[in-house]
Amino acid sequence: MNRRWRPAHFLKSAALRATFLLVAWLALSCAAAKAAEEFYSVKRGDTIYSIARQYSLAPAELADRNGLSRSFHVYAGQRLIVPARSRAGPGGYPALPRAIQRAIDLAPVQPGRWKYIVVHHSGVDTGTVKGMDYYHREVRHMENGLAYDFVIGNGSGMGDGEIAVGPRWTQQLDGGHLASEAQNKIALGICLVGNFDEHRPTLREMDSLRALVQALMVRCNLTPSAVKTHQQINIIHTRCPGAKFPTQSFLASLPTPCR
Ligand SMILES: [Zn+2]
Repeated sequence: MNRRWRPAHFLKSAALRATFLLVAWLALSCAAAKAAEEFYSVKRGDTIYSIARQYSLAPAELADRNGLSRSFHVYAGQRLIVPARSRAGPGGYPALPRAIQRAIDLAPVQPGRWKYIVVHHSGVDTGTVKGMDYYHREVRHMENGLAYDFVIGNGSGMGDGEIAVGPRWTQQLDGGHLASEAQNKIALGICLVGNFDEHRPTLREMDSLRALVQALMVRCNLTPSAVKTHQQINIIHTRCPGAKFPTQSFLASLPTPCR
């Protein structure tokens, strides 16, 4: 029997062990994220309102997660799923409004089509989708109007943290938000209303951005390395999304999606 030490074999098995450990760690961290949903056993005297209050949730959010009708009726002994907190913060999975999640799910995304998700600011402190669409269509002469796939409001013009879905996403059209046409074919664009050279985005804008980016990463099969600021990806220099946009902490907060 050949008992000679074989470095190739050793390295191969060490590499295999490392791969196994990495896969196990990813599976466990994904399981932990999913386990963030708890269960609650309804007691006598409980109402959907009292239970929602205990978990700082909106009653409708708790009812929706459990498929309850609008009467919100619960009975003693019923087992309810308590959704993970919608403002879960870094590393969590903040929930998107259902209509937005639906728009993300329903778009006819071609596998492998999108390689990047790019973050912009509007550069002005009031903004609406209608206004941006007008500007891009009439002033910038973009045939498809609104250059971005999504816009997130700051409370002036749109709601604070409100997400609007544009036709470039729903119809899966090329973007109009980067200087390179080749990049516009493979990069989704999200614009936050505000001038982040002057001040930071609102907390709600950042919560919505994280939730939206995470949902798009799952939908388009992307990892956090696909998420860029306009400045990071553009072929010509731009300040967008502004010196006060928290690029480092935002990118560091994006978890690898569970599949
Ligand atoms: Zn930009």
